[in-house]
Amino acid sequence: MSRDAVIIIGAGLSGLYLAHRLQQQDYPVTLLEARDRLGGRIMSKKIDAHQHARIDLGPAWVWPQMQPRLNRLLEELGVEVFAQYVDGDSLLQASDGGVQRHPGPSPHSQSCRIVGGAQSLVEALAINSDITIHRNTTVRAIDARAQTITARNQDGAIEFKADKVISALPLRLLAESVQLAPDVAANIRHEWQAVPTWMAGHCKILFLYDSPFWREQGLSGEAFSQRGPLTEIYDGSPLVAGDEPSICALTSFVGLNASQRRQIGEGPLIEASLAQLEQLFGPQARTVDRVIVKDWSAEAQTTTAADLVGVHQHPHYSPALPRQVLDGYLSIAGTEAAPEYGGIIEGALESADEILRLFRLPT
Ligand SMILES: Cc1cc2nc3c(=O)[nH]c(=O)nc-3n(C[C@H](O)[C@H](O)[C@H](O)COP(=O)(O)OP(=O)(O)OC[C@H]3O[C@@H](n4cnc5c(N)ncnc54)[C@H](O)[C@@H]3O)c2cc1C
Repeated sequence: MSRDAVIIIGAGLSGLYLAHRLQQQDYPVTLLEARDRLGGRIMSKKIDAHQHARIDLGPAWVWPQMQPRLNRLLEELGVEVFAQYVDGDSLLQASDGGVQRHPGPSPHSQSCRIVGGAQSLVEALAINSDITIHRNTTVRAIDARAQTITARNQDGAIEFKADKVISALPLRLLAESVQLAPDVAANIRHEWQAVPTWMAGHCKILFLYDSPFWREQGLSGEAFSQRGPLTEIYDGSPLVAGDEPSICALTSFVGLNASQRRQIGEGPLIEASLAQLEQLFGPQARTVDRVIVKDWSAEAQTTTAADLVGVHQHPHYSPALPRQVLDGYLSIAGTEAAPEYGGIIEGALESADEILRLFRLPT
């Protein structure tokens, strides 16, 4: 029996995982991805010659013991995790700048990180599947009646035909950047626009050092500040299998929103952050080898204007959103569509599993 030809829009984790599962069921699958790379919000940067020496500019933490789908996928693909470094005291900084040591326990005592960075999961999926992926291909329109998908690549407009289409985009991006024919009802479009894209407006700054000097002071590297500009800091060092990491990292989240960051400018923001690290961890914090800033608010393939205000608490994701629109031609995946784990990595897989169930396929 011939299978429907499926086009998946977005090669983030949700789209890649769906493509992998559909391909296992012999569906002809094509992935259309706007960026020149795979992974979407998942992005790890190589900082050293060792193949596992990568740090996460997007998601870093996973909780496989509480995330059944991720746990199964990691096992299936042979991707390993290691425990977030939490040994030692954490630091609390009050709004007046005063710093206190706390013996813990850390809120991250259950958190794990993926060996080689979260990107290892994306690479394992891409390597294990033989899916046709068109990169630099931005979908602009879906016409359910003509069963066509119109996209733009470096050569201009390009049209694809498919029996079924799956969006694996953040819902706000789908609502704002893809034209649908026939259009969905106004209330559905409003519901999509109301769902924040998790972490889209955020900025991470990573500070690389030759040695984990904080560990030598009995500190975990974890710090929480009411003063800023960094509000949360963690040990973000990579695990270089079996060895001590050759390069270490403090990873941090900036507490200022996107427009405040733009007003200050990157140079002064880095300087203020280093001054804060010095207050917290002492003068060795100044011996930084490299500073890497990743501002997700500048990524048009993730962030919309509505996301720039920044969301600091995990939003409530709506289980009531329709899984299919356009008379079933377009199915909706992507973590923001996940009813239970919306926003996070497990949600990217959960929303994909929901579509597999609609297709009456094994998850
Ligand atoms: C800074 C940061 C920290 C995070 N921390 C964690 C964490 O510690 N743990 C955790 O579980 N989660 C975390 N997350 C969330 C996690 O990254 C996401 O839940 C997950 O990666 C979402 O995957 P996705 O496939 O649903 O969406 P995305 O990764 O957003 O994928 C969507 C894809 O669609 C593509 N695209 C967009 N528009 C178009 C178009 N028009 N045409 C074609 N392609 C298009 C994009 O380029 C992208 O590849 C974090 C996210 C960020 C940014």
